[in-house]
Amino acid sequence: MKSKIFILIGPPGAGKGTQAKNIAVTKDFVLISTGDLLRENVEKKTELGQIAKSYMDKGEFVPIELVAKIIKTNIQQNLNKKGFLFDGFPRDLSQNVLLDEMLNEFNLEVDKVIYIDVKDEAILDRLTNRRVCPKCKKVYHMKYNKPKNDETCDDCGIPLITRDDDKPEVIKNRLATYHKVTHPLVEHFDKLGKVIRVNGEKSPKEVETEILSLI
Ligand SMILES: [Zn+2]
Repeated sequence: MKSKIFILIGPPGAGKGTQAKNIAVTKDFVLISTGDLLRENVEKKTELGQIAKSYMDKGEFVPIELVAKIIKTNIQQNLNKKGFLFDGFPRDLSQNVLLDEMLNEFNLEVDKVIYIDVKDEAILDRLTNRRVCPKCKKVYHMKYNKPKNDETCDDCGIPLITRDDDKPEVIKNRLATYHKVTHPLVEHFDKLGKVIRVNGEKSPKEVETEILSLI
């Protein structure tokens, strides 16, 4: 039987990474998360991992062609599996061309794109209200998971901080990049009738249940 191919797409802060891991485990799919795959190949010192490391050591991005090769090797090794779930690739339309070429070689194609839909305002509300304890790293939310005392850690009693990644300007930039670069993929797959839209503003568990009921 042919393996099914799913791609998970959503704005930064939509909780994609966690969803991807849980869905892959529940459905027994191979999770293709580019970040994890790169780390794994570097750790196992595979041939491609060694080349990737030479870029990472210099603080450079690993070329997308090399990432594609690593993904392709992973698909090849798992062709007997019932499905693959992509997280973080393709990131834009040109990467999708690479993916198409790769899948073609294995006589596979994208079945569905799971789009976790979260409005920008909700993302900003989620991330800019996040505070973290610099000591124990516990994460709080100033609306939904408040510390007992104003902006201090319940356990350590020291002031909470806002991580640089959670500052409004940073998030707005990342959202703008997402809309410009990644979201066109949703429109592309919409035309092919392959998009499953999930309301990502519900709780992570509800989102997971909805996705699982649809694929
Ligand atoms: Zn603490």
